[in-house]
Amino acid sequence: MTRRGFLKVGGGVTAASLTLAAIPADTLMRASGAARAVGQRMPNGVELPATPPRRKRPDSVGFAIVGLGDYALRQMMPRFAQTERAHVAAIVSGNPDKLSRVGDAYGVPPDARYSYETFANIASDDRVEAVYIVLPSGLHADWTARAFAAGKHVLCEKPMALSSAECEHMIAAGRRADRKLMIGYRSHFEPHNLEAMALMAGSAVGPLRLLRTEQSYRMGPTSPSENWRVNRALAGGGPLEDLGIYGLQAALYLAREMPESLSATTFRPAGDPRFAEAFAHVASQWRFPSGAVAQLATSYDSSGTNFVHARGTTGALIMDPATDYSGQRMWLEGGERREISPGDPEVQFARQLDHLADAIRDGIRIRTPGEMGLRDLRLIEAIYASAAAGGTVRLNPDGTMRH
Ligand code: NDP
Repeated sequence: MTRRGFLKVGGGVTAASLTLAAIPADTLMRASGAARAVGQRMPNGVELPATPPRRKRPDSVGFAIVGLGDYALRQMMPRFAQTERAHVAAIVSGNPDKLSRVGDAYGVPPDARYSYETFANIASDDRVEAVYIVLPSGLHADWTARAFAAGKHVLCEKPMALSSAECEHMIAAGRRADRKLMIGYRSHFEPHNLEAMALMAGSAVGPLRLLRTEQSYRMGPTSPSENWRVNRALAGGGPLEDLGIYGLQAALYLAREMPESLSATTFRPAGDPRFAEAFAHVASQWRFPSGAVAQLATSYDSSGTNFVHARGTTGALIMDPATDYSGQRMWLEGGERREISPGDPEVQFARQLDHLADAIRDGIRIRTPGEMGLRDLRLIEAIYASAAAGGTVRLNPDGTMRH
């Protein structure tokens, strides 16, 4: 009997822990297509500033923005108007028209507008100290390595990369270059999520017993060649890396422990071009050493939701929406139902940018370092491994699968 056969005894899940060797070979690999940086059209609904944001402090850190897509142009770049110590110093894009329009609007000098081909010249551009990678996820590892090779600090969007091996290379490259690496986990700078962490650390609901997270939306008609979010080379499995990672993060920062085992399931409907390469849903169930249990679900094919529920022995913390750009709401239940409004969620973007600037200038510890991104990719790999083999995966405290 083969190892896989052994694991499948009984027609499905066995009590035996899975090993990497037991996972079908293609599960952890990219499926098709090459990941390459290519310019795209201007996203819909972008409002460029009428006047460029001013840098506020003489020690402000200059950022190069790599990839002028939806998140960069509609969310992050406008937030530089609210930063204290960070400013846009350069832009990098494969679309010359965007370079020109965005460069003019943000006051980026023409010689600080780079294409993917000329990016390496940024090494000798002293106006740039940090590079912000806002490219499709399958390009994060490569472009982080290029930024470190150019001697710059890096803020890399989530997910850090598509595999733990890529994350390890990114961390090693940062160490070799003696430069900082931060992952764009903005919830660590958002008042509701910060307050939720403090409440859970302070036993506001008693010892945690059950945790549920859901992040979903329904994707319109598309295909892997039209939309990188369903293209395996650029997005991995899809919703888990994109949306579910917020629930995964929340489960970890609210439970404040690593799961010791998990089991998972994925679903991909046949014949739907949206899901030729990506999963429609990914769900997993985790057990923590304390005895708490978490259920995480994420989907690209169900109506929109984004909630986190943490239920302890004396009450529950409800966050809904939990990790959006704005509009977060949060309640404590048990005894009186009490809404908690600790501040404006929209500060998360600028605070995140200032945090890296503070780390560069003052040497403060980065709250969301590469090691955190690596830990999360290990759990994502364990989720796919469990789903592929149909059984429970046991985990080491660092998130690697137990052999
Ligand atoms: P978009 O598709 O809107 O933009 C991506 C941009 O990357 C493109 O506009 C293009 O910029 C550049 N690009 C380079 N090569 C490619 C390629 N092969 N295919 C597509 N685009 C390419 O994506 P988003 O802005 O929504 O997401 C970018 C990153 O930000 C992702 O990693 C995502 O996970 C993350 N993100 C994080 C969020 C958060 O809340 N933290 C929210 C949304 C996204 P150009 O034309 O200038 O070359």
